[in-house]
Amino acid sequence: MLNQKMGGNWYDNCDDMVRNEVSKIKKYVPGKSMDEVKKEYDLDRVIKLASNENPIGVSEKVKERINKVAANINRYPDMDSRGLKDELLEKLDINSDMIAFGNGSDGLLKVIAEVFLKKEDQVIISYPSFVEYKFVSQLMGSQLIRVWMNDYIQNIEGIINSITEDTKLIFLTNPHNPSGTIIKRKDLQVLLDNLPEDLIVVLDEAYYEYVSDEEYPDGLDYIREDYPVIVLRTFSKAYGLAGLRLGYALARPELIDYIMRARDPFNVNKVAENAGIAALNDKEYMKKTLENNKKGKEYLYNELSKIGLKYVPTEANFILVNIKAHDSMELFKKLQSSGIIIRPGKLLGYQHHIRVSIGTTEENEIFIKTLKKYI
Ligand SMILES: *Cc1c(COP(=O)(O)O)cnc(C)c1O
Repeated sequence: MLNQKMGGNWYDNCDDMVRNEVSKIKKYVPGKSMDEVKKEYDLDRVIKLASNENPIGVSEKVKERINKVAANINRYPDMDSRGLKDELLEKLDINSDMIAFGNGSDGLLKVIAEVFLKKEDQVIISYPSFVEYKFVSQLMGSQLIRVWMNDYIQNIEGIINSITEDTKLIFLTNPHNPSGTIIKRKDLQVLLDNLPEDLIVVLDEAYYEYVSDEEYPDGLDYIREDYPVIVLRTFSKAYGLAGLRLGYALARPELIDYIMRARDPFNVNKVAENAGIAALNDKEYMKKTLENNKKGKEYLYNELSKIGLKYVPTEANFILVNIKAHDSMELFKKLQSSGIIIRPGKLLGYQHHIRVSIGTTEENEIFIKTLKKYI
């Protein structure tokens, strides 16, 4: 009231009221939705291969369970997601104090930052890497140290050399997004054996279910051996629940305890919890998902080679493709005008690349056919 009486609109100067860290953050710019693209280019059909979602649709078991739980959403969810927790504890063979759920891994990344990051701390990330690590670190005002990838592989030696006494968190992605490559067991071991005290490694395993490389380390093994590791997994990718926002963190009980204190008490909604239970139990859906991914991967490798395009062999459900001299934004726009949405490498830190999610057989075929028109 006072400000208005003095003749001003208080909101013209509300910048002054905002934390510096927030003023500095650039808003996340998402790609156009399928509906928007459909409308803009007057298309009958749009194929989205941009966000590494599960292309085979929603599990029937999940749909059934969601319908059932709908009758109860006037009630708050169970704060501990007991039902889902019990399923996962059994599957992973861990104790109940070693797991925390979140509103997607994104939600957990934010809680982890809120728990651990002080202004004077440094955070090490690879460059390029998943944008969320940068976002949550900036939000807390911590200093980001970027370590360039060795082409497509996370540079473990570089990361070790960048550690200072101020380093608090290291974010690793395994497999990496957007390259699709993994950190091998022996390399992760080297990093973990070279950590000073008071430093935590966050191991983001969003694409865990897709990996077939035998040298892939299971982050949970390191937690069992008491290394300072927090593993993040999600239901957004192989389990096909991206729209519901459900992820979990695994760590030693001491770390999980702090995460549980800092999170919103009801950070996982009832529909998501129930869908998660059904998804864990739909073995057929997971089998189909992995089969489709393998088949699509081989098809795309083959066809890309025939067009003369190099790609990074992937352990995930997307492929980073080198489009040579082509401009990734231009190619992105051309493909979009033909109804295919991919991620242009420019936005991901890889100029002259595109990242394409592996789709269904039909989607992959249409993608290749369309790509040929423009390459
Ligand atoms: C997709 C993805 C996630 C998953 O995020 P959610 O918030 O669980 O949907 C996390 N990390 C990486 C690297 C990803 O690519």
